Amino acid sequence: MKKMYLLLVLSFLLNHTISNAQSNEIQNEIQTKVKGIEQKVIDWRRDIHQNPELGNREVRTAAMVAKHLESLGMEVITNVGITGVIGVLKGSLPGPVIALRADMDALPVLERTPVPFASKVKTVYDGKETSVMHACGHDSHVAILMGVAEILSGMQKDLKGTVKFIFQPAEEGAPKGEEGGAELMVKEGALKNPNVDVIFGLHINAQVEVGKITYRPGGMFAGVGDLKITVKGKSSHGAEPWFSVDPIVTSAQIINNLQTIMSRNVEITRNAAVVTIGSIHGGNRSNIIPEQVEMLGTVRTLSDADEKLIFNRIRQIATKTAEANGAEAIVELPYSSHYPVTYNNLDLTAKMLPSLEKSAGMSNVILVPAETGAEDFSFFANEVPGFYFYIGGLPKGQDPKTSAPHHTPDFFLDESGFILGVNAMVNLVADYMEIGK
Ligand SMILES: [Zn+2]
Ligand SMILES: [Zn+2]
Repeated sequence: MKKMYLLLVLSFLLNHTISNAQSNEIQNEIQTKVKGIEQKVIDWRRDIHQNPELGNREVRTAAMVAKHLESLGMEVITNVGITGVIGVLKGSLPGPVIALRADMDALPVLERTPVPFASKVKTVYDGKETSVMHACGHDSHVAILMGVAEILSGMQKDLKGTVKFIFQPAEEGAPKGEEGGAELMVKEGALKNPNVDVIFGLHINAQVEVGKITYRPGGMFAGVGDLKITVKGKSSHGAEPWFSVDPIVTSAQIINNLQTIMSRNVEITRNAAVVTIGSIHGGNRSNIIPEQVEMLGTVRTLSDADEKLIFNRIRQIATKTAEANGAEAIVELPYSSHYPVTYNNLDLTAKMLPSLEKSAGMSNVILVPAETGAEDFSFFANEVPGFYFYIGGLPKGQDPKTSAPHHTPDFFLDESGFILGVNAMVNLVADYMEIGK
C-alpha cells in the first residue's frame, strides 16, 4: 500500500514536469477570445443571479443555456436529469471526448448584498414560502461555461475531438422525495453517446482571491454517508432503572465509543475523516426511561478505503455496545444520502496542471488541503477520470475571514474573477486535445 502511494506521488511529480504543447498561434487566439467575452459572461451571470431557481426547478436557466448552445450550432439535449442541458460540440478533427460541467441551482436564502442585480425572487420550498439566492456562485459557473462554449465553438475547425457541455441541476440536493443532481444525470446517460473520456469542473470560491486557482490531487472533497442508529431498550419508571434496559445510557456510550474510530482506527497521517452525531432523540419526561433512542449522523472520508473501515467500525461499535448493555442497536448506513469522494485523478491532475499554470500564472496555482464538505461532481468523476478545482472570487486584498461564507445572505463574488474560469476551461480542452491521449 505504502509503496503504491509513493509510486503514485512520484508519477504525479514526473508528469507534472511535462509542459503542455499548444501552438503560439492558438494560444494567442484563445487569449484574444477570452478577453473579448468577459463582459458577456458578467452580463449572463447578472441575469441568472437576478433570476435564481432552486434544484430541479432550473427551467428559465436551462432554457437560456439551451438557446445559447443552439445559437452556437451545437447539438443540444434538454431535460437530462429533469432540467439538465447537454451541448455536444464536434471538432473538425478526431480526438477525445471531453466533458465540462457547470451546476445551475440556487439556494433558499434571502439575499442581503447591496448589488443592483440582487435577487428578489420568492418561491415555495418544502411547503413554505422562501426567498431564493445564488448563494454558492453557481450562477457564475453557468455564465463561465456559456462563455467557454462560445469560444470553443468558434474554434471548431481546430478542435481535435468533441466537447460535451454539461449543465447540471440540483447540485445542492434535490427537493425531498425527488432524485436529481449529477447522480441522476449519470443514470440517464449524460456521460454516454458519445462516451466521455475525461471531465473537468470548477467552483468559484468567495474565500480565494481573484486570479488564483486552488486544487488538490486525489481526494479533494469528502465522500458523505449519512447514518441513523436506533437503540432499542426497555422502558421503566425513571426512579426504578433496574427494571429498564436504558437506551439513553447506551446511546451515550455509543457516541463516546464512536470517537475512538478517528483516534484509534483511521490512519490520520494519510487522510482526514469525520464522524459526527448531529441529532439525538429519546424520551419525553424527566422520570421515564424511554423504550428507544434515535440518532442521526454523518461520516466524511477522503478515500473509499477509509469509508469502508469507518462504516464497519460504526456498525460494530453500535451493535456490540448495545449488546453489552442488553439493548439492540439498528444501524442504517448509508441512511439518507451517500456521495462518493470527489477524487481528482492523479495522472489527469498532473497532466493538466500546466494548463492551469498557463491560465493563472505559475505562482497563482496553489495546492490546498482537502475539504470535508462534499460536491456531487464526484458522481461524474466516479465514472471517468475527473479534475475539479477552485477559482477565486474574493476581491484582491480583502481578508478571506471578512468575506461572507457560501450559502449565507451576504455571499459576494468579485466578477473580475470569472474570466480566469473561462481561460482555464478553454486551455484544459485545447491542451487535453493535444496531449491527453
Ligand atoms: Zn453550495
Ligand atoms: Zn456550490
